[in-house]
Amino acid sequence: MEQTYCEKQTLPVLGQTDVVVLGGGPSGVVTALAAARHGAKVVLIEKNSILGGLATAGHVCLFEPLCDGYGRQVTSGMVEEMFFRSIQYSYNTLPERWTKGKIEKSNEIDTKEYMGGQGRFATLFNIPAFMLAMEESLQEAGVEIWYDTLFCQPIMEGEVCQGVIVENASGRSVLACQQLIDATGACLAFHRAGADCATYKNRFTFECMDTNFQRMQAAIDSGNMQKAIFWRILGWNPVVSDPNQAHEFEGLTAQDINEYLYLSHKVALDFLKEQDSSYAILSMPTMAQIRMIRRIKGLYEMKPEDVFQTMEDSIGCVSDWRKPGPVYEVPYRSLFVKEFSNMAAVGRNLSAQDDTWDIMRCYPGAMTTGQAAGTAAAMAVKQGIGLRDLPVAQLQDALQKDGVILHIPQK
Ligand SMILES: Cc1cc2nc3c(=O)[nH]c(=O)nc-3n(C[C@H](O)[C@H](O)[C@H](O)COP(=O)(O)OP(=O)(O)OC[C@H]3O[C@@H](n4cnc5c(N)ncnc54)[C@H](O)[C@@H]3O)c2cc1C
Repeated sequence: MEQTYCEKQTLPVLGQTDVVVLGGGPSGVVTALAAARHGAKVVLIEKNSILGGLATAGHVCLFEPLCDGYGRQVTSGMVEEMFFRSIQYSYNTLPERWTKGKIEKSNEIDTKEYMGGQGRFATLFNIPAFMLAMEESLQEAGVEIWYDTLFCQPIMEGEVCQGVIVENASGRSVLACQQLIDATGACLAFHRAGADCATYKNRFTFECMDTNFQRMQAAIDSGNMQKAIFWRILGWNPVVSDPNQAHEFEGLTAQDINEYLYLSHKVALDFLKEQDSSYAILSMPTMAQIRMIRRIKGLYEMKPEDVFQTMEDSIGCVSDWRKPGPVYEVPYRSLFVKEFSNMAAVGRNLSAQDDTWDIMRCYPGAMTTGQAAGTAAAMAVKQGIGLRDLPVAQLQDALQKDGVILHIPQK
C-alpha cells in the first residue's frame, strides 16, 4: 500500500493582489506587464532567481519569427516590443529589412543552421541582456516580482480561484488574488486544481553556449561579439536517430526531469572530453529543456486545420516558425477551461493539439497569449468578473489600441 502523510498547517495570508502570474517565462513576463500597464496590482511568482524561463534559464536564445516568411509581419504589439527589448542591450542577428530604425546596427548573420532559412523577422539574443531588460520593463510597470518562490497549490472555491499557496525563504504562505494566470510551462495550477490536461512525449535536446579560439578571433576580426558565442545544440535529431533507441521525456514526474538533467550533463561532458584546450563551455541551462509538458484541454483546441482561418475571438496572429507561409489566429477560448472562471493558461499551457502546440509554444505565440490574458485580467478586475467572462470585443478593442494585429493581414 502507498504510504501517505497528512500535513496540517495554518498558513499566514501575506496579502491580497489583483492578479497573480505564476511563472516568469516569456509568457508570464508579458502577462504581468500587460496587466500592470492596464492598471492592475500584479505579483509575479518565479521559482528561479532570474526571469525568462526557457529563454534564459533554458538557454533557448532564438526569438522565432514575427513574419510569415514572405515579408509580411503578422505578430506585433508587446511581442514586438519584447523582441526589440531582447536585443536592446547586446548583439542581434536581425536582417536589415526588419530593424525599423529601432536598433542602431543590424548584425545579420547566417542563421540557417538554427531556423531553416534566412531573412525572417527573427533574431538570436544575448541571454543575460534579455533577462535584465525584462526585469527593467517589469520594474518600470510596477510589477512585484517574487523570485526564488515556488508556487505550490491554488486555493479553489467552486469555479473561482481565491489565491495561491507559495513557499520561499520566509516559509509557506498564502497570497489572495482576483485573477490567476498559469504561465508555469507545465500547467501546474490547472492540473492541481483538477482540470483535464493533455501531455506530450518529447525528444531529448541539450543546448548550451560555448566558444573557442577560432570564434573569438572571428568576433575580433568582424567587431561582432555574437560571432564569439555559439549556441551549441546537442541531442537526438528525430531524423537521424533510431526512434526505438530514443527515450522520450514527458516532464511530468521528478524522476523524469532528473533523468533528463542527468542525460543533459552526460552529453555535455562527453562533448567536452572530445575538445582541446581552445574550447570552453560558457554557460549551461539551469532548467530541463523539455518542449511540451502539459496543457489545458480548453474551450477551444487549436488544430492544424485552423491555418488561415478567421477566429471571431482572435487575440493575435502567429506564424509557423518551421516554414514560410502558415499563419494562425489565436482564439481567446484556447486560454480557458469550462470549470474555472478567473484562471487563464498562457504560453505553452494553452489549448492546442500537438502540431499547433509546437507552433504556439514559441515566443511569438507564448507572448501573444500573455498580452491578451494580462490585459483581460486587469479589465476583469475593474468589472468584478472572472477574465474568462470578459466580453471579447472589449478585449480586442484594447489589444488593437496596443498595436496587436488581430486578424491575418490581406495580401
Ligand atoms: C529545446 C527547446 C528549443 C526551443 N527552441 C525555441 C526557439 O528557438 N525559439 C522559440 O521562440 N522558442 C523555442 N522553444 C520554445 C520556448 O522556449 C518555450 O515554449 C517558451 O519558453 C514557453 O514560454 P512559457 O512562458 O510558456 O514557459 P517557460 O519558458 O517554461 O517559463 C515558465 C516559467 O515558470 C516557472 N515555474 C515553473 N513552475 C513554477 C512553480 N511551481 N513556481 C514558480 N515558478 C514556476 C519556471 O521557472 C519558468 O521561469 C524551445 C524550447 C525547447 C525546450
